[in-house]
Amino acid sequence: MSIADQIVALGDSFFSRSLTFGRTGNLSAVDDDGTILMTPTGISLGQLDAEALSRVSIDGQHLHGPQPTKEAFLHLAMYRARPETRAVVHTHSTHSVAVSCLRDVDHDNAIPALTAYYAMRVGALPVLPYHAPGDDRLGPVAEKMATDHHALLLANHGPIVAGTDLASAADALEELEETAKLHLLLHGHRTAPVADAEVTRLKEKYR
Ligand code: ZN
Repeated sequence: MSIADQIVALGDSFFSRSLTFGRTGNLSAVDDDGTILMTPTGISLGQLDAEALSRVSIDGQHLHGPQPTKEAFLHLAMYRARPETRAVVHTHSTHSVAVSCLRDVDHDNAIPALTAYYAMRVGALPVLPYHAPGDDRLGPVAEKMATDHHALLLANHGPIVAGTDLASAADALEELEETAKLHLLLHGHRTAPVADAEVTRLKEKYR
C-alpha cells in the first residue's frame, strides 16, 4: 500500500472509532522520495483523499497539494528531533485531552505505567505547556522534548506521537488513549503501577 493510501486508511480508522472527530487531528509520513505527506488543513480525517494530501519538505516548504495542517510545525519538530521518525500522528482523543487538563498532572510523566503495553509503546509522557492552536512557538519546545521522548502530551490539547512507521505511531497513540482512560477510571482508587525496574526492563527490550 502506498504511503498516501496508508494515511487515508489510518485517518478513516481513527475517525470511525472516534479517536478523532470533526476536523481535528492530523497525520504525516515520510514518502518514498524523502518528502513528507501530510493531511491538509480544515479536513476531517474521515474524508481524506490519497490524491489530495499536502506534500512538504523536512524544512517546512510546501511543495505540492493543498495547504498542510496548521499543526505541520509540530510534525516537523518531531522529524527533526528524531531522525528515525517516519510517521507522526496527532489527535484530540477525549481521554488523553482530559488528562492534559488535570491541574495536578505530573509534567514529567502524565500517566503512570499502569500496564506493560503502555511501558513498551509509550514509556514516559511529558506534558508541554499550553499554547494557542497554531502558535508555532510550541515548535522549539516540542523539538527539544522530542529528542528523548517519542510521545508528548500538549496541555489542554492532546497527544502527538512519532514512530518508525504509521502503524507503530498509531499503536502508541491508541495505547496512550486507552491508558488515559484507565488512569481516569482509577481516579480515587489506590493503584499498583508496573514497578520501575520492570518498566526499565521493558523499555530496553522493546525499544
Ligand atoms: Zn491539535
